[in-house]
Amino acid sequence: MKTVLIGVGQAGGKVTSSLVEFDHDMGFESVRGALAVNTAEADLQPLSIDTVLVGQDRVKGHGVGGDNELGAEVMQSDIGEVLSALDGRITAEAEAIVVVAGLGGGTGSGGAPVLAKELNRVYEIPVYGLGILPGRGEGAMYKVNAGRSLKTLAREADATILIDNDAWHSSGESLEEGFDSINRSIARRVGLLFASGEAVEGVGESVVDTSEVINTLRSGGVAALGYASAEADDDADTNVNVVTSVTRNALLTGTSLPNATKADAALLVVAGKPERISRKGVERARKWLEEETGSMQVRGGDFPIDSERLASLVLLGGVERSERLEEFMQQAKEAREEAQRQEQEQDEADKLFQNDDLDSLI
Ligand code: GDP
Repeated sequence: MKTVLIGVGQAGGKVTSSLVEFDHDMGFESVRGALAVNTAEADLQPLSIDTVLVGQDRVKGHGVGGDNELGAEVMQSDIGEVLSALDGRITAEAEAIVVVAGLGGGTGSGGAPVLAKELNRVYEIPVYGLGILPGRGEGAMYKVNAGRSLKTLAREADATILIDNDAWHSSGESLEEGFDSINRSIARRVGLLFASGEAVEGVGESVVDTSEVINTLRSGGVAALGYASAEADDDADTNVNVVTSVTRNALLTGTSLPNATKADAALLVVAGKPERISRKGVERARKWLEEETGSMQVRGGDFPIDSERLASLVLLGGVERSERLEEFMQQAKEAREEAQRQEQEQDEADKLFQNDDLDSLI
């Protein structure tokens, strides 16, 4: 799939840069353009892709400080600037636009849904969201912001691939320390998915096509991505179990949204040297995916790449009813109610101190 990526906010810009780097290192050329948009100048400076600073009149390059309503307002008022920066980058060959953002902050959280809506109005090709959900250990504000942002992004984008920040995080390092390695994991997995329809070596009947990625995401709403890899034998016949077990691991332990297994549609991409990919294994893995996801729409295809390992990528479309997502939305709701309660208490306390009767007592 030939994509144009737009990263909004700090996480959005960093993950977009990692995706560009991975695509370049692998020589896929599936990323055809990239842009980072932010209200914070300092977050744009280290990036090696083109950038647009928005909201200068409101926040003077200092960011929105976690205020996602302000993030949305700024994106709305400077949307013209972002669209002109994109002019000429979204050429006829582009097959999808991807808006990348951390949903728990301010600029990306508020700005990504506004941008997705506008891009959908202007361009014919699908507009996807790549949204990063705060990890369990992040504060209440991140959860409130992400809950609200996810609802809007899932509505405005044609589909939103969701990545839980805890999902691909290696144990033993804090979330912040881990950001670079998480971003590389995201880039590897999502980058492979995007490039999977761009197979250069070996065009055959079983090779996955971009339309299969698009059709899997067609049900809209929230999508998740699973990944696992393993060493493989030289001979396809001995790799039946390798293909089935990497597919199980991709879905059961390697998804971007833990415990998301029920889906409206799924796509299984098996990546590796074509002569090592067992057809019998792929067929069995697909059947297993049908049972496990409860979906009758399980597509499949190979991604021929020159690697010693075999990898399975499982794209799940329509995972709104997953356990982790429901739990997250519930936490976001509770955090919002708690914030509203505290605000109300503060208002009442303020009123008490503004009370004239009290004034006369002091
Ligand atoms: P913004 O710049 O206002 O849009 O805010 P951020 O992009 O910093 O969003 C904050 C959220 O993104 C939090 O949930 C962070 O955990 C997450 N985040 C920040 N930086 C990164 C990063 O480099 N990688 C990943 N995966 N998440 C990040």
